[in-house]
Formats: sequence, C-alpha cells, structure tokens
Amino acid sequence: MNRIREFFRTFLLFELVKGMALTGRHLFHRKITIQFPDEKTPQSPRFRGLHALRRYPNGEERCIACKLCEAVCPALAITIESEQRDDGTRRTTRYDIDLTKCIFCGFCEESCPVDSIVETRIFEYHGERRGDLVYTKDMLLAIGDRYEQQIAQDRAADAAFR
Ligand code: SF4
Ligand code: SF4
Repeated sequence: MNRIREFFRTFLLFELVKGMALTGRHLFHRKITIQFPDEKTPQSPRFRGLHALRRYPNGEERCIACKLCEAVCPALAITIESEQRDDGTRRTTRYDIDLTKCIFCGFCEESCPVDSIVETRIFEYHGERRGDLVYTKDMLLAIGDRYEQQIAQDRAADAAFR
C-alpha cells in the first residue's frame, strides 16, 4: 500500500507542489532578511563583540592587573604581564587577547572588578593572518578610547536591567 502511495506521490510531483505552495505562501509576506551591510539588525546593549580596555575620565587606565580575567577565561585567550609602578600601583605591561581562541563568553568582563575589560558592539573586524587577531593592550585601549561613550551607555543600560 505504501509503495502505491509513494508511486502516486512521485508521479504527481507531490513534493514539488508542496515546496512551491510553501514558497507561494511566503512570497508576499513581510521579508525578515536585511540588506547587510547597508541595513543592520538591532543590537542588545549586552552584545558581546570585540573587546576593549577602558580608562577613567582622567585618562588613567582602569585595569589594575589583578588577572581575574586571565584566570577565568575558559579558552586561555588572555595573557597578562604586570609590574609595579613608581607610585606603588600595579599595571599591566602586556595584555593580549587571542581572538582565534576567544569564544565570546563574557566571563572576562563579568569578572573584572573595575569595569576595565568589556566586550563592545563591534563585530565587523577581520584578520588576514593569524597574528592579526591577537589584540594587544594598545589596540584594546584604542578601541576603548574610541567607543567609550557607547560602552558607558551600554554599561548603564545593563545595570538598569539587573
Ligand atoms: S570572552 Fe570568554 S573566551 Fe573570550 S577572552 Fe573573555 S573570558 Fe576569554
Ligand atoms: S581587566 Fe579587570 S579583571 Fe582583568 S586584570 Fe585588569 S582589572 Fe583585573
């Protein structure tokens, strides 16, 4: 019986008609695809994109080299070296994030006691060689400097959710 039914389904191009009916049903619906990169979808203030290191308004870097982010990172993507400055405070001398290892889990920003390392809304970046995706302290600070206003707004919005 099944074989007869299958024969008629094949003979009458049943699967093709079913597919065309589905296409027809969606032909005049509102489109959910967008013309990226000219159009963008909305982003959450909690979006976890490219990392940045932030500064205080006086220009001092926030990071105190506690290494919590390095310890918590499940992908071992963060490498920190530090030393004590003349004024007795401790700062990083090296802060690298290997984005080829990073899984964008957000643990680093969750663990940071001074809101220094954050993940921004930036997702349009690329590297042409493996080394291009190792972001150094200077690169991360530069991203923080450039997008501080947006980062601060997103952190405030995030705090309001909690
Ligand atoms: S987002 Fe997660 S994987 Fe990436 S550097 Fe931070 S802790 Fe590591
Ligand atoms: S970014 Fe934050 S968690 Fe990581 S070492 Fe600096 S102060 Fe500590």
